[in-house]
Amino acid sequence: DSTQPLLELKDVTAHYGRIQALKGITLSVAAGEIVSIIGANGAGKSTTLMTICNIVKASGGTLTYQGKDIRGINADKLPMMGLCQVPEGRRIFPRLSVAENLDMGAFFRRDHAGVKKDRDHVFELFPRLKERRHQPGGTLSGGEQQMLAIGRALMARPKLLLLDEPSLGLAPLIAKHIFEIVKTINREAGVTILLVEQNANIALKMSTRGYVLETGSVVLEDKAEALLDNAEIRKAYLGE
Ligand code: ATP
Repeated sequence: DSTQPLLELKDVTAHYGRIQALKGITLSVAAGEIVSIIGANGAGKSTTLMTICNIVKASGGTLTYQGKDIRGINADKLPMMGLCQVPEGRRIFPRLSVAENLDMGAFFRRDHAGVKKDRDHVFELFPRLKERRHQPGGTLSGGEQQMLAIGRALMARPKLLLLDEPSLGLAPLIAKHIFEIVKTINREAGVTILLVEQNANIALKMSTRGYVLETGSVVLEDKAEALLDNAEIRKAYLGE
């Protein structure tokens, strides 16, 4: 069914103990889109991504990927289904080399020729990683670690990539470079992207649609251009 969204959340709630972090999130992502989730600190953006991956358990609502209920599926099984998260803070393996870190992303694949091809493709996207392929991941700069985290996720051949604050802590030029690559991954490899970003301006500029979160609820959803034109959004999130 081509009209079926790739990912769909309906009324998803999540709690940390007695604190309700998500108060009923409804959102969908169609194949091929780049969708942004924007909002202030603590709005529930990261929790939304973690709930999709079952790192945080949804306490209510429905969560489907490719039409399948994924609420009970373990986080580490999702990459095999093409659903990969690049978590905030990147979490690469600091003692493993760049090449070994990339291989970890393909741990479940048996098509060795395909894995090698994908590694070469990651090195094409990120020549910096190729130069440093024998270097321990922990010695990379922040931007390079972000590249490695994205590269590692690509090694699983994702259909849907969840990106949590890819620009966090990066110099503006490096962040810009990362976003360019994310666009390339979407356009050339057809990878669908759900992006969480503090930097709403840059996120919306590269997105098809966006959702605005406030204290655990979606308060607005629209085409990215419309959000960029919205006076209230500009004032609240785009620093005007
Ligand atoms: P940020 O950009 O600051 O990461 P966010 O929009 O991603 O913000 P979340 O991290 O999802 O927001 O947090 C949503 C709410 O849940 C916040 O009120 C936060 O304090 C709370 N929260 C997040 N993680 C935990 C946790 N491990 N234990 C308890 N409360 C938490």
